[in-house]
Amino acid sequence: MKIISTIYLDHQATTPVDPRVLPKMTDTLCQKFGNPHSSEHAIGWRAGQAVETAAFQVGSLVGADADEVIFTSGATEANNLALLGLAGHARASGRRRVLLGATEHKSVIGPARVLASHHNLEVVVIEVDRNGRIDMDALEASVAGDTLLISIMAVNNEIGTVQDVARIGALARDAGALFHCDAAQAPCAIDVGDLIDNADLISLSGHKIYGPCGIGALIARRDVQPMISPLIHGGVQQNGLRSGTLPLALCVGFGAAAELIGGEDAVEERKRVRNIRDLFVRLLIAAGHDIELNGGTGDARHPGNANLLMRGVAAADLLASMQPKLAASSGSACTSGIPEPSHVLRAIGLSAQEADSSVRFSFGRHSTEADAREAATIVSETLDRLSEAGLRTIA
Ligand code: PMP
Repeated sequence: MKIISTIYLDHQATTPVDPRVLPKMTDTLCQKFGNPHSSEHAIGWRAGQAVETAAFQVGSLVGADADEVIFTSGATEANNLALLGLAGHARASGRRRVLLGATEHKSVIGPARVLASHHNLEVVVIEVDRNGRIDMDALEASVAGDTLLISIMAVNNEIGTVQDVARIGALARDAGALFHCDAAQAPCAIDVGDLIDNADLISLSGHKIYGPCGIGALIARRDVQPMISPLIHGGVQQNGLRSGTLPLALCVGFGAAAELIGGEDAVEERKRVRNIRDLFVRLLIAAGHDIELNGGTGDARHPGNANLLMRGVAAADLLASMQPKLAASSGSACTSGIPEPSHVLRAIGLSAQEADSSVRFSFGRHSTEADAREAATIVSETLDRLSEAGLRTIA
């Protein structure tokens, strides 16, 4: 997939809206618009029905019901609602411990810090192994009697590691703790059809699954919803859990995208993306470059993710030198621009220097074999050019 003349290998940062989704959104914006909370006329009822359908589609993706879907502005807000929304319940229940994976997204780490600093909860970080997998022994040892919440992502956004959510969910259940799973990256990577059987709270994002940006959802099991206090107050929409007029076209687009990503082509699509990603990595290795894959292996890795450690190269130099031919990234887009090595790469044991020499390439639905071949040539030639110019500055 080329955008203007750029090969797009940054699908974990954001995905384009699928062409099958867009017409539904424009139709909603121009023809079938309406305030879904207007209860006094037919236009409002139709809009409300469209939200119901979208909630059904988004819920179905993870095996949940429509009334378990709380639409938010994205996964960042969903993560904040999951963690901060439980502060009151922590006080009431006396459960004061929160367990986090070391490679969680900043939108989980941030609110966890607030739980510690403003609500006096004990936040314990569970380390991961070299592949980014949670240390299950450490998790088991830390789930003490007063654990309120375990928050561990299903699939990592930087290194693609897939966690064993069934095992984590069982551990949480046995300890009487809640399990929040940030699944923003999961639908493109694994089958999430029964995730609600394992997790009490699930975060999703529209723009990671070929839907629009600006919408996401916290899926909260019905029996868990009374434990959550809203972060946004106002007109008590969505059962008071998240006030504000729902953005109808975004809901419709998110719902359509969720239906597609969980559809019958999903397995085939993941296989196709995996083959293209593997071809890219093989070609780079065959070109004689010193390259190592950071993150998960085999099925425990996002099929589109190739996070590559390229020793001796500054990722920032490589990425800049490839413009405008190829778009990839040096870490999660949310932290790029911040001059500190990725906490995810540090957590799997990379030195600061190795982390700064790592680039994330992420393939997606519209990537082609030709993209993989051309991208490998661009990366390879750029590495050679940097080498010749003496710019491989990192030892
Ligand atoms: N969690 C994960 C794992 C993510 O990859 C992202 C996006 N980088 C988010 C949360 C935040 O999602 P959003 O952009 O929808 O706020």
